[in-house]
Amino acid sequence: MPDSALFSNGATSVREITADDIDPSSYKDTYKGQLYCTSENCNAKLVVVFRYSRRNYFRTLQNEDHDEDCIHYFERSATRGGIDTQETINVRMSEKQKRNALKRAFSLSQMTDEQIEEMRKKQKNRKKNTTTNNRKDTQTRIEPTLNGEVDEEKEREALKKKKAPSLFNRGADALSESDLGKPRVVSGEVISVYSKKNFAQIKIRRGNTTLSVKFEEAFFADSPNSDGLFGNITKYSEKHGPLIFNGIGEVRVSSTTGEYEVAIFNGNDFTVEGRTLQSLSAIVATWG
Ligand SMILES: [Zn+2]
Repeated sequence: MPDSALFSNGATSVREITADDIDPSSYKDTYKGQLYCTSENCNAKLVVVFRYSRRNYFRTLQNEDHDEDCIHYFERSATRGGIDTQETINVRMSEKQKRNALKRAFSLSQMTDEQIEEMRKKQKNRKKNTTTNNRKDTQTRIEPTLNGEVDEEKEREALKKKKAPSLFNRGADALSESDLGKPRVVSGEVISVYSKKNFAQIKIRRGNTTLSVKFEEAFFADSPNSDGLFGNITKYSEKHGPLIFNGIGEVRVSSTTGEYEVAIFNGNDFTVEGRTLQSLSAIVATWG
């Protein structure tokens, strides 16, 4: 995966840039659609993949290829070969998987980037040492789903083979096109809470980016006892200071602002300071 690209906006200057020099807002404003492979004679257009506390990298667009002589050519066509024959099976995440994902996201949110990097390195080494290569079954891809269509028979088969979908962590500032329509664990600091009957919105922030997390009719239909409790988050923060939000939701683009936003569908799919809304509200209730 290339970690540098040429930035060319059609004007006179062309310069080389690394993926970590770009953040989501400069990408949107300046670089998007103007990044190319650095290899000579290769004009493949590149997009940035933003990652949570790991190095960003560049990849080609779905229907763009590197030149056959480009050093990145093989890697790309190998990947594509895999994807074309793949079948995707949607699997619903169990409550336990979701709980664990939220716990993990909360502990990540309390760590510095350096600590996370250190931990990832250790995990990587451990993996290298212990796991044998079991990538034979690349024909099917298991995708987690929150409220998408599920073929129950295929889901059962996948679970029988102990295939659990993996859920990606994203900081509020690290969402990109590849996350659209997919469930993600999003994390950030709570900056505001707004709620009314059957609707709530929590704005979270990481770095300079703000992200709206929305709770709409589908959420309240599923978790009617959450109605009226969102104001407790504000009360809780008055006593505790800045709060960490972690939630599992579906990434989409807001029809009003054009920004990324996240929709949450179930009362157990998010925590504030590691607590569910119910448990946080129970604490606030004791304050009288
Ligand atoms: Zn190339």
